[in-house]
Amino acid sequence: MAYDTEMFKYVADEYIKENGVIPVLHCLGVMPLMEGNTIVGVVTESKSGRLAIRAKRVIDCTGDADIAYRAGVECVMAEEKTGDLEPGYLMGGTLVYGLTDVDTAAVEEEADSDPSQRHPVMHRKMYHGIEKARAAGEIMPPYTNKSFIYNRVTKNELPALNHCVYPVDGTDVLSLTKAEIESRKSIMDIIPILRKYEKGMENAKLRNFAMSIGVRETRRIIGEYRMEFKDVFDEKTFPDAIGVYPVCMDGPEGVLPAFTEAYFQVPYRITVPVKIENLLVAGRCCSSKRRAVTITRQVDFAMVTGCQRQ
Ligand SMILES: Cc1cc2nc3c(=O)[nH]c(=O)nc-3n(C[C@H](O)[C@H](O)[C@H](O)COP(=O)(O)OP(=O)(O)OC[C@H]3O[C@@H](n4cnc5c(N)ncnc54)[C@H](O)[C@@H]3O)c2cc1C
Repeated sequence: MAYDTEMFKYVADEYIKENGVIPVLHCLGVMPLMEGNTIVGVVTESKSGRLAIRAKRVIDCTGDADIAYRAGVECVMAEEKTGDLEPGYLMGGTLVYGLTDVDTAAVEEEADSDPSQRHPVMHRKMYHGIEKARAAGEIMPPYTNKSFIYNRVTKNELPALNHCVYPVDGTDVLSLTKAEIESRKSIMDIIPILRKYEKGMENAKLRNFAMSIGVRETRRIIGEYRMEFKDVFDEKTFPDAIGVYPVCMDGPEGVLPAFTEAYFQVPYRITVPVKIENLLVAGRCCSSKRRAVTITRQVDFAMVTGCQRQ
């Protein structure tokens, strides 16, 4: 589903207001406040300095389990093989970018010219222009894929191209810095090639870079239950289910759209770390075996883990 990334920021502000949340932007949670094995709050750092926020319950939604990890929760990362990713190798990150001054009608026509460019999950998987560029001997910038996918919500613009998959460790600030800067360079170098070989992109210009490189995989906590790849395809049910999710995947284990009504239940225990009290997690850092990350890293799976009501 394509959505307007800029409008989303405003809509998110409105949700925050409607739900009585006190927003604190420009602020990092850096350390847990501990009383023995119980987390009782978080230390933050921002332009206002260091602040301790005490909390009735702490929920770590950092994607990387930053707070859980620093509270002493056992975490894993790239610990075993998944698909063709060997242990120690993380899924690559991507700096999404947008183009303006695009003839989107011509781009859509080109996408429609070959059914294999109309991938049911990957939106439009464009590869004709890249193939032509390679055949002509163009040197492709590092880590740019043989195809790219895009979303379109307005005329004359492609606001979200996903083209460059760069190795990155999202828990290492120098790795994040390098990946983000070098991805920008690769994108600047690919745009002239797109202009030359992609229909409808003859006059394309950079519209924007995403606010930061997107990270697909880092730490996961060891929780009271670890979601398994098999649970998904067994359409498993759990006594502590907090929601359901369709049988589908998109990651190193392959791509399977949610085309059927098959679904499995999501257990509460994947959000509950062992040993440390009063802490929950939500999102991609929840407790799963590595093969299951191909499912548990999805945006709407994160929504299921985050939408519990007491
Ligand atoms: C390029 C790309 C394309 C993708 N495409 C799809 C797709 O098509 N469909 C799909 O379902 N999934 C997709 N994914 C995967 C999906 O986006 C993520 O796995 C998902 O967003 C994870 O959600 P999350 O809430 O756990 O973490 P995030 O979305 O990463 O949110 C974590 C938030 O916490 C903030 N944060 C982090 N650390 C701290 C801290 N210490 N203190 C304060 N704030 C902090 C971050 O700034 C961020 O806002 C894609 C990922 C990438 C990178």
